[in-house]
Amino acid sequence: MRIDIITIHPQLLESPFQHSILKRAIQKGVVEVNLVNLRDYSTYKQKQVDDYAFGGGAGMVLMIEPIANCINHLKKERSYDEILYTSPDGELLEQKACNYFSTLKNIIVLCGHYKGIDERVRQHLITKEISIGNYVLSGGELAAAVLCDGIIRLIPGVLNDETSALTDSFQDNLIAPPVYTRPQEYNGWGVPDVLMSGHSANIEKWRHEQSIERTQQRRPDLLK
Ligand code: SAH
Repeated sequence: MRIDIITIHPQLLESPFQHSILKRAIQKGVVEVNLVNLRDYSTYKQKQVDDYAFGGGAGMVLMIEPIANCINHLKKERSYDEILYTSPDGELLEQKACNYFSTLKNIIVLCGHYKGIDERVRQHLITKEISIGNYVLSGGELAAAVLCDGIIRLIPGVLNDETSALTDSFQDNLIAPPVYTRPQEYNGWGVPDVLMSGHSANIEKWRHEQSIERTQQRRPDLLK
């Protein structure tokens, strides 16, 4: 899979891909992440990519020209399955969407900034808009990092068996059971006996029951 992320702050996105699971996925060649600096597509001498909003008001708006130039340039190299824009008023990101995105070959993720991007980009150049929650961030970079992490860990070969994504919360509309590790007792606080029993069928059964109970308590909406 290849992900091109268009941003005015590529440095903000360097670290998330240089550690842990995402780093390994890139090293294995399972995914290629290409950070594209929007300013490289500005037609202005000062590399300007934003301007005042028509009609006035506070906040700058990313212009359509550099974004269109950038997307057109990328599209000349390969065809894209989705061109995503991170936006607080987009579709709320859920596991189902991550599953779908993880099956794609090439995607673009466009990060907005300031007051947002010229509406015509959203109308004509974007295929889907994704929100990571009902709050407003300063820019789309952290949202893009969240989105990419959610997608990349699902690509076959990225996680090993132990950390299999299939047992994570939301995959089957259940949230994950509690987990414990050494020491077996801390401060008088123990761990459930069944986990120490070595009886794998009982452990599986307990975990499933815990998942259902937790979902009923914490996220009854998932059971509907
Ligand atoms: N004025 C806009 C917010 C702009 S925030 C509004 O009120 O809707 C600047 C940029 O941050 C956006 O263009 C978007 O790319 C990104 N962003 C902010 N919050 C986000 C969220 N919850 N999910 C995804 N992207 C977000």
